Amino acid sequence: MMAGDGGHGSIRLVEERCTSCMLCARECPSWCITIDSHTEPVPDLPPGTRERTQNVLDRFEIDWSLCMYCGICVEECPFDALAWEPAHTAAAPSALTLRHGIGELKGTNR
Ligand code: SF4
Ligand code: SF4
Repeated sequence: MMAGDGGHGSIRLVEERCTSCMLCARECPSWCITIDSHTEPVPDLPPGTRERTQNVLDRFEIDWSLCMYCGICVEECPFDALAWEPAHTAAAPSALTLRHGIGELKGTNR
C-alpha cells in the first residue's frame, strides 16, 4: 500500500481512486468511517457491449473524535485511496464538527 508522506497527523482521501468498496469502513475498529454511494451505468462503452455499472461515491466521512489513528484503513485500502497526511486535524468546538467529509479529507476545505 501507499507509504505515508512524512507524518501520521491525519488521513487524506484520494477521491478519484476510491471505488466505494467499503473495505476500510468494515475493517476500522472504531467504526468511524461512513460511506454512501450509488451505482451508475459505465458511460461510453463500445457498441454491443453488455451494460456495466460503477460505484459513485456520495459520502465519505471520518469521525476524528473516534479515530484511533491505527492506520488499518490506510493499509487495507486496495486502491491506495487513503494516505497519511502530516498535518493534524484542527481542534474543534464540538465532537460534531470533527466529522470530516470528502472536502476536508481531500484537503480542499481545510
Ligand atoms: S486510522 Fe484506524 S480508527 Fe482511524 S479511521 Fe482508519 S481504521 Fe479507523
Ligand atoms: S478501502 Fe479504499 S477504495 Fe475502498 S471504500 Fe475505502 S478508501 Fe475507498
